Amino acid sequence: MSRKFFGGVHPFEGKSLTENCPIQVLPAPEQVLIPVVLHIGAPCEPVVNVGDHVNLGQLIAKATAAVAADIHSSVSGTVAAIEPRLHANGKMVQTIVIDNDMQDTIDESVVPHTAEVEADPKALTEIVRKAGIVGMGGAAFPTAVKITSGLGKVDNIIINAAECEPYITADHRIMLEQPEEVLEGVRMLTKLFELPYATFVVENNKKAAINKLREFVKDDNGDIRIKVHKTLYPQGAEKQLIQSVTKRQVPPGGLPADVGCVVFNDYTCWAINRAVKTGMPAIDRVVSVTGPGIKNPGNYRVRVGTPVRKLIEAAGGLTDNAQKVLMGGPMMGIAIYDLDVPVVKGTNCILVLTDKENRSVAEPNCIRCGRCVAACPMKLMPGTIYHYERAKDIAMLQKLHVTDCIECGCCTFICAGRLDITQSIKMAKAQVNALRAKK
Ligand code: SF4
Ligand code: SF4
Repeated sequence: MSRKFFGGVHPFEGKSLTENCPIQVLPAPEQVLIPVVLHIGAPCEPVVNVGDHVNLGQLIAKATAAVAADIHSSVSGTVAAIEPRLHANGKMVQTIVIDNDMQDTIDESVVPHTAEVEADPKALTEIVRKAGIVGMGGAAFPTAVKITSGLGKVDNIIINAAECEPYITADHRIMLEQPEEVLEGVRMLTKLFELPYATFVVENNKKAAINKLREFVKDDNGDIRIKVHKTLYPQGAEKQLIQSVTKRQVPPGGLPADVGCVVFNDYTCWAINRAVKTGMPAIDRVVSVTGPGIKNPGNYRVRVGTPVRKLIEAAGGLTDNAQKVLMGGPMMGIAIYDLDVPVVKGTNCILVLTDKENRSVAEPNCIRCGRCVAACPMKLMPGTIYHYERAKDIAMLQKLHVTDCIECGCCTFICAGRLDITQSIKMAKAQVNALRAKK
């Protein structure tokens, strides 16, 4: 067992709320709201019009930029509108609204690709691209772009099954319930990259998943090598994971491929396997609906575009003292203020917190304890950055390497003075990036 990156914290795990809850399939809603941005990158271009009939799995918005991922209909039905709607990111985003005909008529483009991949593993890249697969661990970076960036350059494939963010158990349940599908996806990637093995990293708080994987991976020198790491947040952050597995450090502004590595989430491997075996693109995902503010926490397979409200209803609704709804976990999730925003490809959790978890105080104040510096996995000086952000001193923010921040939230979590440092740092990064873009 190993733990080899700087900093990190041990937040309350909260995983016991849902780790033993099998994945339930949530019926598709009467209407889905599919924004043309379901990924990190540029918006897609709609290729359907209002009034068109669409089938389940049909392409409805095409990636036209280098970093983007095709978008497919998550139901069959009729396009009711294409208009700006509120996205979980807080912005109004062009959204394809589809009235569900409740038939789930599968599009004729959805066909298996098994023979193609068996004949030529390189065919996988295009299959992944056409399936619109993105990083399912929450990052939502287009997987085909990641594959292309690493092909011919890497000597290490790392599978990220750390799921280090508290409360979330979507990856855990996928490993427990469909381990062979996950492992098949890993093997396809290993063949594509022409590497002898992939390193599969799980945190030691997922004993049931580790035992399940071991039923299928008995040989520690085979094509999949399971590594169990000590639980420590943010173990699953890409740079930290690479460092703990290979001792290599991704340079500031660099990519994992710069140090010979490529990292895929375990659920992404599951999605790759499904796209190959059935042809079904990324039209749904597993979401943990959890937290002390939810009456009956659980894990649900839901269609992309389902309003968050439907997930909360399925989980019994909010408790009387529910106070804050987050899309994502408590460390990196974003607060949502309208429960009609839709689930996107990277939505791994809907977390509801209560007044008891609210740590904010009327007058946050730095007591110069230094805990944020010790906790920062990027070796930054979060408290100092906080003060220069408030002073709007962009030159100093650049000197403090603010853009290296991975927005993990460790500094805010550990802060004795209850400062919301991460929020300040996000704003500081935006200011520095805007200045760079202007220059
Ligand atoms: S400064 Fe950024 S990387 Fe460092 S602990 Fe805070 S959020 Fe994480
Ligand atoms: S942890 Fe908070 S109180 Fe302590 S030095 Fe950092 S910003 Fe100041």
